[in-house]
Amino acid sequence: MKIDGFFTVLAGVLIGIPGTKGCTGFSSPHDLYLSVNGTLAAENQIPLNAAGYGVSHFGHGAYMVTDGAYQTFVLVSTAGVIVVDAPPTTGHKIQWAIGNLTSTPVRWFIYSHSHSDHAGGAYLFANQTNPKVTTIAHENTASQLAAATDPHRPVPKITFKDRYKLSAGNQTLELFFPGIGHDLGNIIIYAPKPKVLMMVDQVYAGWVPFWNLAASVYVPGWIKAHDQILAYDFDVYLGGHMGGPGNRTAVEVQREYVHDLFDNCAEALILSGTGENPNVDIAVISKEVLTNNPYNIWAQFAAYLDAVADLCYNATSSKWLGKLAAQDIFGYSHARTMVSSLRLDYDVLGPNDVQP
Ligand SMILES: [Zn+2]
Repeated sequence: MKIDGFFTVLAGVLIGIPGTKGCTGFSSPHDLYLSVNGTLAAENQIPLNAAGYGVSHFGHGAYMVTDGAYQTFVLVSTAGVIVVDAPPTTGHKIQWAIGNLTSTPVRWFIYSHSHSDHAGGAYLFANQTNPKVTTIAHENTASQLAAATDPHRPVPKITFKDRYKLSAGNQTLELFFPGIGHDLGNIIIYAPKPKVLMMVDQVYAGWVPFWNLAASVYVPGWIKAHDQILAYDFDVYLGGHMGGPGNRTAVEVQREYVHDLFDNCAEALILSGTGENPNVDIAVISKEVLTNNPYNIWAQFAAYLDAVADLCYNATSSKWLGKLAAQDIFGYSHARTMVSSLRLDYDVLGPNDVQP
């Protein structure tokens, strides 16, 4: 092979074609990504001020502070301000934003979950003594933070197992643990008066989720949480990401996307054992790979699973590409993660089920 020919092939593999899956599932040059202009994802973004943050007001003392990529929920009560999450990238801007909203001091800090990209600025509020800030999280989050020994994420003083109701002057905030999903202790945070619901790294209004189904530790729990959210009476949904709030429809749309992905991946897995489609047929793929790579069982399995994920991704994209932003970016990672979860969590093993 001529060297320039090799690089042409390599470039084609790495770059791929926008909207279709290349070998890596990612497109490298930025100008090849599908534009999100004109989509709900872009229209949702609120403008940032000169200091680099934006604030949405939902009424009844409820606000979202964003740096364009992350969100903090601020609830002002007559007894003090409640802050949920402090992404390090927003950092001190959260303090400035609150200072411009009210002279009431912050009195409560709540961790939505343990992850440092949402909680790395927690030390700016959590466990402060003057004025005193009470810090609250799910008990699993507290365990994770205790193990992390991260001075930026202090261990909360108050923890709970199932539910916690915070009464703060004229406001209440209901915290509920729906089970392990995105993280070990990711909670639903609900403010009944302004009808604002926050669950971080769960729904991404107008977007497909962050890669690998939001990098969830337990995919079935993460899928189920869509229904648990929709059982609440809320108008505003905050997912912790992007520069705009969501609503009930955004949660319903993502649930539909995830259910489609689930069905398409299950169908591809089952098809791979029927001999009806050589592109995903495990016998065809195995023979081809093992002929060229004797004894390389991992190579055989990787080629097979990639082929199943390809079929699932393309079927899902036929409906959702251009409808939810960034399906071309993270859609293939979602197909791979769903295929894995179907096999391991849902017992959809296709040709690898109990043998005769
Ligand atoms: Zn997270």
